[in-house]
Amino acid sequence: MWNPEKEREFIKNTDAVVWATISCMDCDFRYEALFKKTKPRRCLECGGKLSSTTPQGRNSPVSIFTEKFASEIFEGALKKAGYDDLEVKRNVVCDELDLTSRSAADMAVVKKGVKGRVYEASQIEIVFEVKMSLIWNWEPKKDGDIQIEADYDNHKGRGSIYRTDSILKAIGKGAIFRSHFQSNDIPYIVVGNSPPPKSYLDKIDGSVRAGIVQRFLSLTPEPLVIDKSDPKERNPKESKGEGFLRIDSKDELKDFIDDLLDDERIFIGSMLKKTKLGKIIKSLDLDKEYSEIGEAFFKRLYDVEVV
Ligand SMILES: [Zn+2]
Repeated sequence: MWNPEKEREFIKNTDAVVWATISCMDCDFRYEALFKKTKPRRCLECGGKLSSTTPQGRNSPVSIFTEKFASEIFEGALKKAGYDDLEVKRNVVCDELDLTSRSAADMAVVKKGVKGRVYEASQIEIVFEVKMSLIWNWEPKKDGDIQIEADYDNHKGRGSIYRTDSILKAIGKGAIFRSHFQSNDIPYIVVGNSPPPKSYLDKIDGSVRAGIVQRFLSLTPEPLVIDKSDPKERNPKESKGEGFLRIDSKDELKDFIDDLLDDERIFIGSMLKKTKLGKIIKSLDLDKEYSEIGEAFFKRLYDVEVV
């Protein structure tokens, strides 16, 4: 599972991390950190206001590292569950599902034996959108090591699915995916490594109830390292509507995968009238940005006119 050691390993072995400089606006006090803390911390020298250089977003080396992590852990779960005819691949392309080389599936469970990354829809079992990132706020120490200074919700970085834009983008991508008939029996899973913001839990549950996304996951059992207050709110096991789920162990992940691959399940029909979902998707402008599609989807979902 994702934990501080994984993050430390990545940060210490890459030159892709650019440390933000946090400096006092009144004196020459300054320090480096991955992100600026959310709770205003005053200058330690003079009590003045602190400003920061731009905190970094999810850059390409972070995506590569986290997607590799995710594919290894899901591959392990697949093996444990005994699916010897399936494997996990990254950057999967499928024309029928509009997964083009420019917007490939980050990761997918596919039938074994296909060379390359181009698949037919019938060879794809699960599609994953990976929205993992660095979630803690690190600071360098004098001895060259680094240490965590703030948890996922106490700094300006807003990583993984704690970033609302990432949630909307994933839903927008899911709506496009669902607009293709052949996607009907393929689960679409969003993989994160932090909890979502509390104010977005209803959107997450709504998109899952509607069958656009089957689940938002966090692969971090213990995101609270520095401030352990309000664990129920800040580290929920799942959302009320079960759209979000925190996976705590490799065994839990195995059970989750096993359940998804159960052939008895049909996703769309059981959650919302197909006609309503079809009408909503048809009414969306699928050429827009993913996040705009995600927003528009929610407006329509609760629109009583569309029945
Ligand atoms: Zn100062």
